[in-house]
Order: sequence, then C-alpha cells, then structure tokens
Amino acid sequence: MCNLSFNEAKRMVRELVEAKGFPNDEPALTQKLLWAFVELGEAADAYKKGMDWLKVCEELIDTIFYILDFIGLVEKTQGIEIDVDRLFIDKWRMNMERPRRYGQVRG
Ligand SMILES: [Mg+2]
Repeated sequence: MCNLSFNEAKRMVRELVEAKGFPNDEPALTQKLLWAFVELGEAADAYKKGMDWLKVCEELIDTIFYILDFIGLVEKTQGIEIDVDRLFIDKWRMNMERPRRYGQVRG
C-alpha cells in the first residue's frame, strides 16, 4: 500500500498533462469532463463484459485522472486553489450526518 493524497494525485496528473502535451487551457475544461464520462463508460463496458476486476478498476482510475485533471485545470485557469482532500473529508462528514439511505427512495 502507498499513501497518496488527492492533492498529490492532482499535482501528478497535471505534471503528466504538461509532460505529454495534452490540452491544457480553459477551452479544454469541457473535454476533460467528457473524457471522464468516456472512461466511466469504459469501466461499465468492462464490467458488463465480465472482464477482469483490475481492468474495471483501471478504467475507474482513468475517470479519476480526468476529474483531477479538470480540477487542476480549473485552479490554473481561474487562479484559485482547490483542496481536494478537504473537499472529500467535508463531503464525507456531511454525508455521514445525513439520514440512512438519504436521497435514495427506490433501488
Ligand atoms: Mg480507459
């Protein structure tokens, strides 16, 4: 096991984007979100086809890459800082305080 924070992962993804010459400006924000959906679709497809669990999870990690890429690009283009670890912890606490099965009436 290795310890890696969301913030450090975000920094690493941004490093990758710059090193590999991927789109890295404000107009690219939309496509980062689109590719996150595409990767989620790849995960769903791999699951549907009964592929290896590691393959399904790898596609989910691809999704996270694009999400972190998006957040990092928001930081860069909007000149703000987004503490992803803080966001996660705050959201987790908020959800823990909500009622049982909050927001899910059916299913
Ligand atoms: Mg993929």
